[in-house]
Amino acid sequence: MRDAGAETDLFSKFDGILAERAALLATGVRDPYAIVMSEVKSPTLAVINGKDTILLGTYNYMGMTFDPDVVQAGKDALDEFGSGTTGSRVLNGTYQGHKECEDALKEFYGTRSAMVFSTGYQANLGMISTLAGKGDYVIIDADSHASIYDGCFLGNAEIVRFRHNSVEDLDKRLGRLPAEAQKLVVLEGVYSMLGDVAPLPDMVAAVRKHPNCMILVDEAHGMGFFGKHGRGVYEEQGVEKEIDFVVGTFSKSVGTVGGFCVSDHPKFEVMRFAARPYIFTASLPPSVVATAATSIRKLMHAGEKRAHLWENSRRLHKGLRDMGFNLGTETAQSAIISVILTDQTQAVAMWQALLELGLYVNMARPPATPAGWFLLRCSLCAEHSSEQVGQILDIFAAAGRSTGVIPG
Ligand code: PMP
Repeated sequence: MRDAGAETDLFSKFDGILAERAALLATGVRDPYAIVMSEVKSPTLAVINGKDTILLGTYNYMGMTFDPDVVQAGKDALDEFGSGTTGSRVLNGTYQGHKECEDALKEFYGTRSAMVFSTGYQANLGMISTLAGKGDYVIIDADSHASIYDGCFLGNAEIVRFRHNSVEDLDKRLGRLPAEAQKLVVLEGVYSMLGDVAPLPDMVAAVRKHPNCMILVDEAHGMGFFGKHGRGVYEEQGVEKEIDFVVGTFSKSVGTVGGFCVSDHPKFEVMRFAARPYIFTASLPPSVVATAATSIRKLMHAGEKRAHLWENSRRLHKGLRDMGFNLGTETAQSAIISVILTDQTQAVAMWQALLELGLYVNMARPPATPAGWFLLRCSLCAEHSSEQVGQILDIFAAAGRSTGVIPG
């Protein structure tokens, strides 16, 4: 294949990114794509560069990735149904496993309908772009996930953004829209950058003051451990009867890959014939839907795990706060705890120091982050032992002092 790069070509627009990366690597920083987990020993431990490393950036909230029943279900499905479906359900057909996975979701959420997409990204893309087309409005939080933004762009609806978690701004902006227009309000239960939770009852009350609104809540980071049944923040906050659609992912608490939407709307099933990101892509492999279905059913009875996850989250939050780190929330609101840094060099140094000491967290940077912050994002797991949380705190203390983020 041709490998000659002309001085100016389609790649020229990335020269800024390339220069920035080169400058960063020149300071001795490791390329994140070069960090390879050569072995994954458990939901909370992997081998990186030959060293045991605690995983604190997985979103594997409920630690289901190594659950023996989940793993066995995947192996059985591989044996019985093969490695893939090699196409879309519309053309190639539905496997038994897809149906069972949707049945598990319907039971988990207590809804009439459930539709499985190939990722959570595609679930948002499919739902938002198909529901809200030309002439409709999508009203979204300014800090919405990229898949929500991309769903808006794909659907050609008018996008209206309101200030992050501001009920007043949401109300004001809805009030300016034509009453007769159809509107989709998209909210998230937990916002993944700072780990803060939406005030859903107040938001729902604001939305219901205006005509022709439907509400979709993305519970990617809430499923599994918020609410009596683990359905998400909307369940915990008691607004189940007010929400039209819940979108979620299998890539976090469920512990595999995939996305879904559940709803009680009587016409919901028409989405299977209209949502392009559902129709024009291959369906999930049998092993994946089998692991997802088994995991979802087990999450219905995971009260103890949930309690331990909350304990871990509160302990880490308090420990980091007491050490003097600047955190994304006042108290632990979810299983995500973000350490806020304002200087890129310091953030990278801290992230690297954590890794050297055997702790892997996510580093998030602008434009994905609010307010131009650099975030060291920690996501806790129900399988982190109390001892591991203690180790995590010790590592943060050492890395924070050596990089000057907290006083020495
Ligand atoms: N919604 C939110 C809020 C997310 O954080 C993510 C993934 N980080 C997604 C959707 C997409 O999920 P998936 O990984 O299944 O594509």
